Amino acid sequence: MPELPEVESVLCSLRDAVPALPGRVVNRVTVLWDGLLSNLSTEQFHDGLKGMTFSAIRRHGKYLIFALRKNGAGCRESFLIVHLRMTGRLYLVPSRQAVERHTRMTLWLDEDLALRFDDPRKFGRIWLVADPDQVLNGLGPDALTVTRDVFMARISATRRQIKPLLLDQSFLAGVGNIYADESLFRAGIHPLTPVSLLSERDLECLHGAVIEVLSEAVEAHGANIDGVFKEGGFIVSVYGRAGKPCFRCGSTIVKIRVAQRGTHLCPVCQPSV
Ligand SMILES: [Zn+2]
Repeated sequence: MPELPEVESVLCSLRDAVPALPGRVVNRVTVLWDGLLSNLSTEQFHDGLKGMTFSAIRRHGKYLIFALRKNGAGCRESFLIVHLRMTGRLYLVPSRQAVERHTRMTLWLDEDLALRFDDPRKFGRIWLVADPDQVLNGLGPDALTVTRDVFMARISATRRQIKPLLLDQSFLAGVGNIYADESLFRAGIHPLTPVSLLSERDLECLHGAVIEVLSEAVEAHGANIDGVFKEGGFIVSVYGRAGKPCFRCGSTIVKIRVAQRGTHLCPVCQPSV
């Protein structure tokens, strides 16, 4: 947590705020925990951001990518890249609002606004780079928009077990433990199944299930799991429901371990092969 839909929800909240983040100028920077910065010192980070204007926001997998520009003499473009990891929160507040206990960074903006990054467990990371590929080049295609043809070509090239593959960000970017379990349930595929035992029809069905589950979760502003992402309204079918009845067939949902991750499935809807 958070995964692709929760990160998309953060993106929308920053883009659609009034006033929105795009167009805002960074006046100054406060870093309260410098372990957050992946590639620069606090001083370099401050110098790199001061006076820059946010121009656009996009997302790839679980990464947020903010383009910033400085116009006029010495015109340049930089990219602020944020990964929320387990407990990171990125949000706009009025600049006078007191910092929270777990605030790790504040960007002080014009319009009396501040962009805050809170992170109780300190796993979140931030980069400031000239080229986003410096951070993102190992990632596979974005899981929300990957086409059938690209998905089929990539998955046909492997014989791995299906759930570890879905979690591998270099295969597909954005799917984590929750949405891997939900997608496999919807496609009726057991998480331990090797890709080589799945038919073309199974794989097409899985591609459809991944896009459908992620789209529904984006629409619902993510999932509220363990109270980390409180805005989320997505209803999970199997994740975290061990011991409860399957919504589809009434059998008991079970929890197993796959690649060190707690994995939830319905043994009837997702038979092992
Ligand atoms: Zn079932």
